[in-house]
Amino acid sequence: MAVGALRVFRIPMRTRFRGQTVREGILLHGPAGWGEFSPFPEYGPAECARWRACAEEAAFTGWPAPLRDRIPVNAIVPAVGPEQAHAMVRRARCETVKVKVAERGQAFAEDMARVEAVRDALGPGGRIRVDANGAWDVATAVARITELGRFGLEYVEQPCATLEELARVRRKVEVPVAADESIRRAEDPLKVRAAGAADIAVVKVQPLGGVAAALRVVEACGLPAVVSSAVETSVGLAAGVALAAALPELPYACGLGTLSLLEGDVVTDPLVPVDGVLPVRRPTVDEAALARYEVESPAWVRRLEEASP
Ligand SMILES: [Mg+2]
Repeated sequence: MAVGALRVFRIPMRTRFRGQTVREGILLHGPAGWGEFSPFPEYGPAECARWRACAEEAAFTGWPAPLRDRIPVNAIVPAVGPEQAHAMVRRARCETVKVKVAERGQAFAEDMARVEAVRDALGPGGRIRVDANGAWDVATAVARITELGRFGLEYVEQPCATLEELARVRRKVEVPVAADESIRRAEDPLKVRAAGAADIAVVKVQPLGGVAAALRVVEACGLPAVVSSAVETSVGLAAGVALAAALPELPYACGLGTLSLLEGDVVTDPLVPVDGVLPVRRPTVDEAALARYEVESPAWVRRLEEASP
C-alpha cells in the first residue's frame, strides 16, 4: 500500500461516546476513492485487520452495486429530559427514532417520560426503538420492556449483555430484540443466530471487514440487518451506506445518521440525513476541511501497518 496516501485525522466529538471525546483514524486514498480506518482504541491488531480491510476495499476495490438510492435512517435521542427529547424529534423530521434507556444514574421513570415524549412528538405512525446498551438483567429487562411497550416499540436493542440473557428475554417479551454490542466480529452474527438471541442484527461495516464481507455475513446469518455506523466521518459512513444500499432486504431504518455527533467532517458534501433519509453517494474529501483535522501520528500509521489477522 502507498504510505504517502495516508492522512491521520482527529475530530472532537460534540457528545461523549464510548468514553471518547475525540474520533481519530486514518483516511487512505486509492484508485477506487477514499477509505476510513478508525478502530476504537481498545481494539488489537487482529480486530483492526477487519477495519483495515474495509478501508482498503473502499480505496482499492470499490463496492458491490447498490440496489436502492435512498437509505432511511433513525434519529437519536440520548438520555435527555422529556422536553428536550420532544424538541429533538420534531427538529429531526424523521419517521424512526432510537431512544437511549437504562442510562447509568437515571431512574426508570426518566426512561418512561422520555419515550412517552418521543411518542407524542412522532405521532402514532412513527417507529421507536430503545437501546439499553446491555445494562439490564433478565428480570429487569422483561419488566421494563413490557412497561415501555405501552408506547409502541419497533424493537429493543441489546437489553442485556450476554447472548444467553438475550435469548431468555426474547422468549418472554413480545417486542423484537436486536443484538448490537453482541456483534463485534464477523463470526458474531452467526453466534447470535445460533443462540436464538435476537430477531435483528445490528451490523457495522468496518468491524465486519468491508461491504462485500458484511453482505456475506448478513446472508449467512439470515436475520434482518440494521446497518449502523461506528461514528465515522462521511468517508466511513459512505461504506455503511454502500452496505445498506446493497443488502437484498432493508426492512428497518439504519443507524447511519451519526455525523452530527462529530464537531466537523472532512468532505465537501457531508452525509447528513434530510427528513430521515441519506442519499446513496460517495462524498469527496475536501482538502481544506481535512486540513482542519489532520494530525501527525506515527502511532496511528503503526496501528494500520500492524493490523493483521
Ligand atoms: Mg446500540
